[in-house]
This record gives sequence, C-alpha cells and structure tokens, in this order.
Amino acid sequence: MNRNKALVVLSGGQDSTTCLYWAKKHFEEVYAISFKYGQKHELEVELARRIASKAGVPFEVKNVSFISELSTGCSLTDNSIPMDSDKPADSVPNTFVPGRNMFFLSIAAVYAREHDIMNIVTGVSQTDFSGYPDCRDSFIRSLNVTLNLAMDEQFVIHTPLMWIDKAETWKMADELGIFDIIRHETLTCYNGIPGDGCGHCPACKLRRHGLEEYLKQKYK
Ligand code: ZN
Repeated sequence: MNRNKALVVLSGGQDSTTCLYWAKKHFEEVYAISFKYGQKHELEVELARRIASKAGVPFEVKNVSFISELSTGCSLTDNSIPMDSDKPADSVPNTFVPGRNMFFLSIAAVYAREHDIMNIVTGVSQTDFSGYPDCRDSFIRSLNVTLNLAMDEQFVIHTPLMWIDKAETWKMADELGIFDIIRHETLTCYNGIPGDGCGHCPACKLRRHGLEEYLKQKYK
C-alpha cells in the first residue's frame, strides 16, 4: 500500500472539506469519495464534487441509498419527520443515521485497497459530539483494527478534527488558506442551504457559534 496516498470521505460540509485540504497538505496524492445514502439534500454531493474539482482531487460518488431503507425514524432521510433541535436526554437525536459512518468507512477502505491507498481521512469529531456513537474515537479505532483484519491490510484512519471544537476547525481552515471556501462553498445546514445556511438548525447553530468564537479570538 502506498503510504503517500490518502482517501478523504467528503460530504461537502465544513468538516470534511477542511479534512480534504488537511490531507492535501500531508499526503502527495489525495482522492475523495462521497456517498448518496438517501439524504434529503443531494445538493451536498454536487457541492462535494465542485469542492474536489477545485482542489484538483479525483472524486467518486457511491450510491448507498439502502442505508436509509434499513432504518426508520431519521429526520435527515425522511421528509415527514421534523428534526430534533436538541439532543434528547436519553437517546441519540433523530438526525442520527444508524451505521452511516461504519458503512462509509468500510466502503472507503475497499475503494482505498483497490487504489493502493493506505490512508483514510474522516472529519468526525468527538468534541462537538452530537450524540452520534459513530463519531467517537473508540469506534474509529475499533473499526480501523477491524478493517485491517478484514482485508489483511495496514490502513490508517486519520481524524484531524477528533479532539478540536468548531472554533478550532475554523482556525485550521484559516491556516490552510481555505477560510472563504469553507465559509461560502460548503454545506453543513440540515435544511440544505449552503454557506451560512438557514441559521437555526442544530448544524447551523454549531457552525455559527464556532465561527463567532474563532473570529473573536482572532481579532481581539
Ligand atoms: Zn441550517
């Protein structure tokens, strides 16, 4: 496996786009992969394509829409369900797509193996932990071991954002010279509005709060 090659799981959002440029800084050859999993806003896949093209990175989309057919009750894939605005005390929010990161990373690993890519990069973060179990460090480490055992390979899953918050993610983007790309060309909003988004969904609130925090630190 080629240790100078990396595959980024790119959703077109703030976190994965920052990871794409992080990967470009750290590896010689970078690839991006995106997934259609039955999300309401397939625009994110088109934005991911544009972002990858601008970054000069080969881009591939895989259709895994069966993921949304496997379970019910997710507001990101079912138009009839209103989105949880806060994390419920006793369960995961209904924006959680069960198994999503497991499927994404497993498929990414098979793709990586086929293309002789040793490194896999994902933008998950435990710090802004929204209650998604598959964004936790323990899960990623466990899956890394499992994928290596499954294919007898030496994949390394990188999570540059695992221990930093949204303000620090903005800082990283700024240091990578992509602040404006992140600000205007990515889609984080659960209501499918690029850039600064709708302003009131949980993803927009988290993103804006982080941005305000970062700008406050930068210009104080
Ligand atoms: Zn929003």
